[in-house]
Formats: sequence, C-alpha cells, structure tokens
Amino acid sequence: MPADYHTHTPLCLHAEGTPEAFIDAAISAGVTEYGISDHAPQIPEPFDDWRMAVSDLPAYFEWIERAKKHAAGRIPIRAGLECDWLTGCEPWIAQLSSRYDWDYLIGSVHYLGDWDFDNPKWLGRWAESDVDAVWNHYWKTYTDMADSGIFDILGHPDLVKKFSHIPAGDLDRFYEPVIDAIAASGSVIELNTAGWHKPCSDAYPAPRFLELACSAGIGLVISSDAHSPNEVARDFHQAIEIAKTAGYRETTLFEKRQRRTEPLT
Ligand code: ZN
Ligand code: FE
Ligand code: FE
Ligand code: ZN
Repeated sequence: MPADYHTHTPLCLHAEGTPEAFIDAAISAGVTEYGISDHAPQIPEPFDDWRMAVSDLPAYFEWIERAKKHAAGRIPIRAGLECDWLTGCEPWIAQLSSRYDWDYLIGSVHYLGDWDFDNPKWLGRWAESDVDAVWNHYWKTYTDMADSGIFDILGHPDLVKKFSHIPAGDLDRFYEPVIDAIAASGSVIELNTAGWHKPCSDAYPAPRFLELACSAGIGLVISSDAHSPNEVARDFHQAIEIAKTAGYRETTLFEKRQRRTEPLT
C-alpha cells in the first residue's frame, strides 16, 4: 500500500480527529508511510477561514511530534504542508519552507484570483461563469505553479471539475500543455481519492490525465486528502488499480525533500 501524504489536522478549522486516531487509521490501513500536510498559513492575515494561522505553526509542529510519538516507529511519519499557489507567493513559500525540516511541500491551486473556486460557498459564482474560460484560467495557473518548481508534489490536478463543471469535447487540449510543464519541472503529481466523494464522483486527476502523465514520465503519489481519521487511505485499492491501468508501476516516497520510489502494490 503506498504512502498517504495528503492529510489534514483540526488546525485548518474544517478537519477533525486526534493525531493518535489518524495514526491508528494509517496503521490499520497498512500504508507505507503517513504524511501530514495541513493547509499552510497565508499572508496577509486574516486570509480566509479554512487554514491555520501563522501563530498556529508551533501547535502544528507539536501535532506532528505527537503523531511521531504515538507511531513509535511502527510507521514513518512525514511532515509537509499543503500550500496555496497564488501569484507572487514564492517568497512566502520560501519563508514557510525555512520554518521546519519538511519532508515535502504540496502545491495546490484553490484560488483563481480572489476566488477559491472549490469552496461550496461560491457555487453561485460558478453558475454565472463561462466554464471554458474558468478551465483556461485554472490550467494556466496550474502550469505557472508547475513552472515555479518550488513544490515536491502538485495537488489534486483537475480540482476545477469538483462541481462537475466540465467543458465539452476532448479535454486533452487542457491537459497537454500542463503535462509538458509538470514533466519539465520534475515535480510529482498526486492521485487524490477525495474527488470520488465530491459532486464530480471522479478522483483527481481523471484517468486520461493520469495516462498522459505516466507517458510523460511524471512521478506519482496516491493521497486521500483525509480531513478525519476514517478518511485515511480511503479508496486506495481502487486508486492503485486506476494508476496501474494508466501505466504506473511505482509511487514516490519523500524524506527531507529527497525522493525514492517503491513498487505500486
Ligand atoms: Zn481542506
Ligand atoms: Fe486542496
Ligand atoms: Fe487537502
Ligand atoms: Zn487538498
């Protein structure tokens, strides 16, 4: 069973569970490693209501220590952050990366300009948007994030489909340029199983994207994006099958921002 590197803590204000409960869930699921990657602080504060504050970082480090203590060598615990890709964010990400000896940083696109488009609060804004235009904006933003090269893992690649707003026709026209950028950057992508439990009922990314990514030599992690202990490693068996169908035979492991691979089983 691959590692599960994309998981949250209550510090982001929309997750629940103790470090002990998350670790117990990871051990019983049989994942290789467990990684904690809560929503990173973002300046200027207050930024939004779904992330930890800068002043929460010490509590986050304590959460990680508690997880390690509870794991007691039964499973490796890795430390990361899910950072938001925003225009001009590079100096802030550099500051965050110096605050701890991270194992990896995940970059995610949740914002297009001032719009956190995956927030159900703003479904009305989707209703009045041109889906093709939003997709163009999203993939341009995702490509910029890949080009930055500052993240180890690029999160939930086609999150833009969350509420099932999907343009007509062949989607390769969106996928191909971003696949090239990711391959050139050397970052890996995640197959994020949370999408199966969202209106789109499809993992992020779609199987076709995964197939193109594999052909381009892009590395892979499988992630649950758990916001509670019962979601740790959720649907990993199904995800492994989909990754294999796309051509993947291994997944990537991270320690202190260095990587190695393990066979996909
Ligand atoms: Zn979240
Ligand atoms: Fe996210
Ligand atoms: Fe997440
Ligand atoms: Zn996420």
